[in-house]
Amino acid sequence: MKQSGQPILRDIVLVGGGHSHVGVLRRFAMKPMPGVRPTVVCRDTHTPYSGMLPGYVAGHYGYDDVHIDLRRLAEFAGARFFRTEAVGLDRHAHKLYCSDRPAIPYDRLSINIGSTPKLNDAGGQSSRVVAVKPIYQFNERWLALLARVQSQPGPMHIVVVGGGAGGVELLLAMQHRLRQELHHLGQDPNTLRFSLFTRGASILPTHNTAVQQRFTRTLKDRGVALHLNAAVQAVDDQGLTTVNGEHYTADEVIWVTRAGGARWLQDTGLALDDDGFIKVTDTLQTVTDPDIFAAGDIASMVNHPREKAGVFAVRQGPPLAHNLRRSLEGLPLRDYHPQRRWLALISTGDQYAVASRGALSAAGAWLWRWKDHIDRRFMARFSDLPEMSQATTKLPASTVALEGEEAQQAISAIAMRCGGCGAKVGASTLSRALSALKPIERDDVVIGLHAPDDAAVVRVPAGKAMVHTVDFFRAFIDDPYVFGQIAANHALGDIFAMGAEAQTATAIATVPQGLEAKVEDTVFQMMSGALEVLNDANCALVGGHTGEGQELALGFAVNGLIDDRMDKIMRKGGMRPGDVLILTKPIGTGTLFAAHAQLKAKGRWIDEALISMRQSNRLAAGCLHRFGATACTDLTGFGLLGHLVEMTRPSEVDASINLSALPVLEGAEQTVAAGILSSLQPANVRLRRAIRNAESVVKHGRYPLIFDPQTAGGLLASVPGDQADACVRELIALGYPHTGIIGAVHPQGDALEPIELRD
Ligand SMILES: Cc1cc2nc3c(=O)[nH]c(=O)nc-3n(C[C@H](O)[C@H](O)[C@H](O)COP(=O)(O)OP(=O)(O)OC[C@H]3O[C@@H](n4cnc5c(N)ncnc54)[C@H](O)[C@@H]3O)c2cc1C
Repeated sequence: MKQSGQPILRDIVLVGGGHSHVGVLRRFAMKPMPGVRPTVVCRDTHTPYSGMLPGYVAGHYGYDDVHIDLRRLAEFAGARFFRTEAVGLDRHAHKLYCSDRPAIPYDRLSINIGSTPKLNDAGGQSSRVVAVKPIYQFNERWLALLARVQSQPGPMHIVVVGGGAGGVELLLAMQHRLRQELHHLGQDPNTLRFSLFTRGASILPTHNTAVQQRFTRTLKDRGVALHLNAAVQAVDDQGLTTVNGEHYTADEVIWVTRAGGARWLQDTGLALDDDGFIKVTDTLQTVTDPDIFAAGDIASMVNHPREKAGVFAVRQGPPLAHNLRRSLEGLPLRDYHPQRRWLALISTGDQYAVASRGALSAAGAWLWRWKDHIDRRFMARFSDLPEMSQATTKLPASTVALEGEEAQQAISAIAMRCGGCGAKVGASTLSRALSALKPIERDDVVIGLHAPDDAAVVRVPAGKAMVHTVDFFRAFIDDPYVFGQIAANHALGDIFAMGAEAQTATAIATVPQGLEAKVEDTVFQMMSGALEVLNDANCALVGGHTGEGQELALGFAVNGLIDDRMDKIMRKGGMRPGDVLILTKPIGTGTLFAAHAQLKAKGRWIDEALISMRQSNRLAAGCLHRFGATACTDLTGFGLLGHLVEMTRPSEVDASINLSALPVLEGAEQTVAAGILSSLQPANVRLRRAIRNAESVVKHGRYPLIFDPQTAGGLLASVPGDQADACVRELIALGYPHTGIIGAVHPQGDALEPIELRD
C-alpha cells in the first residue's frame, strides 16, 4: 500500500475496470496527482481484455493471459480498490451507492462499466441461455460446458444468438476448442452441432461485403447452420423459437446480441440514449453533470456516434485521464474525436484472422500472429509493471483547485504533517463520522457511545467473569471498510478462542490527514466495517479515540464475558496426549500481503485471503468447545509454530504437524517459494529451535509457512482423538471449509524440542 504522505484533497472514483479505466490507472501510476485519491470500484478483480477473449475460448490463451489484474494495477497506481458492484448514484450528495458497503463519496466520478446484452429480448428466461456479459458469468458457464463435453461426450447442439463480430468470433472459437477436445478424447467431433441466429439479412452488418462473404463461407465450410432474418423471440427449456415461428432444440444458447446500458443508470438522472447508454460530450463528461464522466461501451458520444468496440474504450483512456486531471485543476478540458474508421482483426478460432477496415479486407494466419503480437503487447502494459521508487521525495505542491475554507483546511493539514503532530481528529469530524453508526445496545452497558462521558460504564452480570484483550495494527489493505472488518474480527479472535462471548469494545485509530470531509469519510468507512463485525458478535462499541497519523491504523480493546465457574475457558495449557490438532482456516496471510505490497500477488489470491480474514471464529469456537477441545488459541502474529509452542509448553506435551495436511491459502506456497516473506517472519523463525527435525524438513515447500504471521487467522485447537472426525465435519458444515486435522499431541519425550514436522 503506497503512502503518499500528501493530505487528501479530492477523490476520483472510477466505476468499473473497463478498457478506459485501466489506461487511466496506468497514467495515474506514471504521474500521480498530489492530493488526489483515486478509487476503483469494480465487481470483478480480474477484468477481461475483449480482444483476446475468443482466443481464450479457443484454447490459445490461459485465464491470466487475457485478464487484467485490477487489484494489482490499482496498487501500482496508488489507487484504492473496492471490490463491489455500483448500484446507484446520488448526484446531489456526490455519492456512489454499492451493493454491499457504505456509499462512496466522490469529487469526480467516471463510469466505464461496459454494456450488457439485452437478454430480456428473448421474452423469457431459460437455464439454457447465457449472456456473453458479464464475462465472468459466461466464463463459468463455458468452463462447465467444456467439462461436460470432456466428461460426457455425446450429441449436443450449441447456438449463438447474434451475428456481429463478437457472436461470429465466439462461435468459431467455441467450435474449434470443443472439436479439438473431442478429437483428443478419440471421440467424433461431428456429434457437436453449431448454429448462428441473427435478426439481420447478413452477418457482420457493420463490415464490408468481402468480410461478410468470407465469414459466411467459413461458417458454411465448418458446418455451422446460419439462420439469417431469424431474430430469436423466445427460449425455453427445449430450445428456441424465432420470429418466423420456427422452433429449434438447443442444449446451450449463448447470447451475444446488441447491448444496452445497466438498469441502475436509469434512476441516476443522467441523460441516456435509447439503448440506455450515458450521453457524453466530446470531453467525455456526461451531458447532464460535468463532475461525472463516462467512457467505453457505456458512453454514447452525442456528437460522434460509434459502434460499441473495445478499441474505442482503449482510445478514450488517455483523454479521460487528462480531462479528469484538468477538471480537478479547474482548467479547460480537451475535446476527443474518435476515429471514423478502425481496423478490426476478427479471428476464426484456428489461429487465422480476417482484417476489416472500411472497404478493405485481408485474411491469413499472419494476421492472427500480428493480432496476437498487438494483443500481448497491450496486455504487457498492465501486467509487466515497472518497479516504482518507494523513496519519499519532497512532495510536489498539489495542483488541485481549492477555494475558501477548503484551502485553509489544506494548509493546516500540511502544517500538521510537517510538525509531526499526532493531534486528535477534530471532535466535530469524529462525532459526525460516528453519529451515523449504530452500535448494538446491550442492557449491561450503562454509559456507552451515544451517551458520551469520560469513560464507558459497563456492568458485569452476576455469575460472569471478565476477559480482556487488545490488538492494534496498521492498514495492510487500501480499503478502510474491509480493513475495519478485519481489525475488529482480529481483535475478537482472542475472546472467542478463550470460549468467551464478546461484550464491549473501545476503538483506537489513526487516520491520515486531509480535508475534514475526507478524514470524516475514512473514519466512517472504517468504523462501518468494524461495527458490522462487532454488532454481529453482539459486542457493543462503547468508546474510542482517533488521532491523525501518517498511516491508517485501527485496534480494539475488547471485553468479553465467561462463566465464572471457568468451565468454559479454553486455555492454551490443556492439551493432552492422544488429542489431535485441528486448524479452522488456511494460513498464508503474511506472505500474501507482503507479495501484494510488492505487486507480486494475484488479485484473486488477495480476494480469497480477505474472505478468510473476515470470517468470524465465533461459531468455530462454540463447535470446538462442544467437541471437548482441551486447548485453543487463535492464530495471529507468531504464526502456526509460535502459537503451537505457546500451547505445548504450558501443557507439558509434544506435538507433531503434518505439513501436507496444512490448509494453505491459494498463492501462499508460490509467494514463499519466491522468497517473499512478511517483515515479522524473521522474528518468528527464531523459534525453529523448538523443532526436533528442522534439518530434514527445511526444504519442504510449506516449511516457511509455519512461521508466517497471520492476521485474523483461524483457531488452532486440540481435540480428543475420538471426537476429531465428527468435529471437523461439523466445522465444515458451519462454513469453515478448509478445516483440517493438521497434527497430533504426544506425551512429552526426552528431546528438548517439543515439535516434530512430518511430510
Ligand atoms: C466475444 C467478444 C469479442 C469481442 N472482441 C472484440 C475485439 O476483438 N475488438 C474490439 O474492439 N471489441 C471487441 N468486443 C467488444 C468489446 O468487448 C467491448 O466493446 C468492450 O469490452 C467494451 O469495453 P468497456 O471498457 O466499455 O467495458 P468492459 O470491458 O465490459 O468492462 C466493464 C468493467 O466494468 C465492471 N462492471 C460492470 N458493471 C459494474 C458495476 N455495476 N459496478 C462495478 N463494476 C462494474 C466489469 O466487471 C468490467 O470490469 C468483443 C465483444 C465480445 C462479446
